[in-house]
Amino acid sequence: MKDRYGRTINYMRISVARDCNLSCRYCMPPGEQREVSGKLLSDSEILRVAKAAAELGITRFKLTGGEPLMRPGIVRLAAAIRAFPDTEAVTVTTNGVLLAKLAKDLKKAGVDAVNVSLDTLDPSYFQWLTGHDALERVIEGIEAAQAAGLFVKLNAVQGRQADGRELICFAQRRGLIIRFIEMMPVGYGKNFVSEEKADLFSFLRQHYGKAERIDKREWTGGAAGAADALPAFRFGAGLCFGAGPAEYYRFEKLRCPVGLIRAVTHQFCSTCNRIRLTGEGRLKLCLSYQDGVDLRPDLERGVGDGELIEMMEQAIFMKPRRHCFMEPEKMTEQGAMISIGG
Ligand code: SAM
Ligand code: SF4
Repeated sequence: MKDRYGRTINYMRISVARDCNLSCRYCMPPGEQREVSGKLLSDSEILRVAKAAAELGITRFKLTGGEPLMRPGIVRLAAAIRAFPDTEAVTVTTNGVLLAKLAKDLKKAGVDAVNVSLDTLDPSYFQWLTGHDALERVIEGIEAAQAAGLFVKLNAVQGRQADGRELICFAQRRGLIIRFIEMMPVGYGKNFVSEEKADLFSFLRQHYGKAERIDKREWTGGAAGAADALPAFRFGAGLCFGAGPAEYYRFEKLRCPVGLIRAVTHQFCSTCNRIRLTGEGRLKLCLSYQDGVDLRPDLERGVGDGELIEMMEQAIFMKPRRHCFMEPEKMTEQGAMISIGG
């Protein structure tokens, strides 16, 4: 469907878990108290909302959290959403800790891709940043996902430049797509000051040479011509690296494309195609605002399908025009990212 600004809304992020086995400092720092506003939606409630969303034109679903792989029954849930007749893709965003155990089952369930969040390859910095000594498990998870035939992308929240370079080498060696995400002033992200703040794009150009923007659907290889080594993500009619707002670049001296997700400095709200469902059942329309509708009371009273679709349609239509990260006083979303799902 289209919202009141004519944007096509076809992508939904569903938070299926509110707990996490890591405590990233910008998301849910160790020792902080979680705000919890009610019980998690059950599988059947999530499926009802996802089906209603599919009726409204959502074709791409992302399962997130908290840590989605901690949810018992995550594989069944993914398979059920993948089986909707019009679903084009179901993907999972995970910290990778439990991926080695679940990769094959996710592949069997029809999951199209996993995004693994990994900000550093330095074990002691990983431990500081996430509160856990789990880097090895994350790497094993990435390897298992690739071995299972899942398309894997790395997501790194932009931080220290040295980490960025190591992650790029890692991605290049293993044929992974890597994207760097700007820290957004949401939840604890507001207070997280990265150690090096220089513009990532300038840094990348300095190290890897001339940059050329590439169409997501047409990777034809970098200077060293390793296109054939890259995993292909068949998506809709074409070959694609994903459905999100990342801009991809080919750098002269790199064999893998690098994606940048610059929500703060390069606002992409005019083409925003997404809505979110929080773990407790709030249909959320923009990261900056609380706007949306709490679906849980209606799901609990046994709302009919038609009424559910209508409520969601009205809410989606009113999706805000743009985020207000640059004017924090206007932000009404006070929740932590772990409750929103990224
Ligand atoms: N636990 C899973 C994971 O880490 O991928 C899924 C949930 S996590 C909230 C989803 C994504 O949000 C992660 O890639 C994480 O790095 C990112 N994230 C969390 N807080 C953020 C912030 N303030 N700005 C930008 N990205 C953030
Ligand atoms: Fe957990 Fe993901 Fe948040 Fe880190 S970013 S605390 S892994 S939910």
